Amino acid sequence: MGGKRKKRTKIVRAKPKLPKTFECPRCGKISITVEFEDKDSRSKMAEIRCGSCGLKTELEIPSIYDEANAYGRFIDLYLEGKLEIKEDGEHIVNEGNEDEGKGSELSSETN
Ligand SMILES: [Zn+2]
Repeated sequence: MGGKRKKRTKIVRAKPKLPKTFECPRCGKISITVEFEDKDSRSKMAEIRCGSCGLKTELEIPSIYDEANAYGRFIDLYLEGKLEIKEDGEHIVNEGNEDEGKGSELSSETN
């Protein structure tokens, strides 16, 4: 009897799907995502969106561009002020609605 059994751990090398997120030039967070939409065989539209501050814009790029290329183009145009920035959604939170002035009534009951 006996016999050491070494437990073998199977190493599964799953290719991690890298989220292609980039730094937002406006809010500084790494939350820019790029999505493509085919336009024709030579060009496509890239939709650039920031999941943090809601920045959103579209630009036309050659169809061979990948996300990083599109992002580079976006940064160039953004810095030159040539981009039309749209806001994504209307998640403007109205804060500062504090209810003040409700004085607590001091009612001391003496038996
Ligand atoms: Zn942002």
